[in-house]
Amino acid sequence: MTGPYLIAGNWKMNGLNSSLAVLEETARSCEHLNEEVDVVVFPPATLLAVSSILLKDTRVQLGGQDCSSEVSGAFTGEISASMLKDAGAKFVILGHSERRQRHAESDDLVRRKAIQAVQEGLKAVICIGEIAQEKADGKTLAAVSDQILYSVPRTSAVDQIVIAYEPKWAIGTGVTPTLDEIAVVHKHIRVELLAHWGESGRGIRILYGGSVKPSNATEILAISEVGGLLVGGASLDAKQFSAICEHG
Ligand code: PGA
Repeated sequence: MTGPYLIAGNWKMNGLNSSLAVLEETARSCEHLNEEVDVVVFPPATLLAVSSILLKDTRVQLGGQDCSSEVSGAFTGEISASMLKDAGAKFVILGHSERRQRHAESDDLVRRKAIQAVQEGLKAVICIGEIAQEKADGKTLAAVSDQILYSVPRTSAVDQIVIAYEPKWAIGTGVTPTLDEIAVVHKHIRVELLAHWGESGRGIRILYGGSVKPSNATEILAISEVGGLLVGGASLDAKQFSAICEHG
């Protein structure tokens, strides 16, 4: 697909007020990036509002790490899509494998969350990817097909949908699929998107995530159909994260 790469940094459950210096450094280092790269950081929800002030007029956009499938009301502890937007988020990660696993999030719940996010005007970064057993059983493509079918809403707002392919076994492990494996899965995802959305499925960006570092970013970004990267651990270090953004 055409358009700028999207480089996304997921801080997960890391980051206190004292970590805002990392965000400032990231914004400074990204100032000179060319137009072909969009950068978004997903700090914890507690830092969104202050980060939004800090990142005003910079190249770095903000996102939340999850949102509720409900609009508002008696849902203690949940954060709605409108709250994320109100705090300055433009994106939200949904269905990350850590939430699918630790919080037993189903495809259907992820889809309903994505509907809320899209309705609020947020871009939903919907994570899909096989677990180690599925890979061992040769079921990678079937697993991602199912997740696309059941966790991605059939909205016409394709510019508000981003797919992140993150094999669970590659997250935080330092192990990545081979470049050929990434290419095969990304091509398969594109075929599925075209099957469900027709030609407009071409407008949906597909990110790769799982142990991305400055040393492998260039070769992964060069793969056809890879429209960007979802970076976990390396996004906590401004130097590493901006080095990855430089590869875009
Ligand atoms: P990692 O995490 O880069 O630390 O492997 C990626 C992710 O979970 O999004």
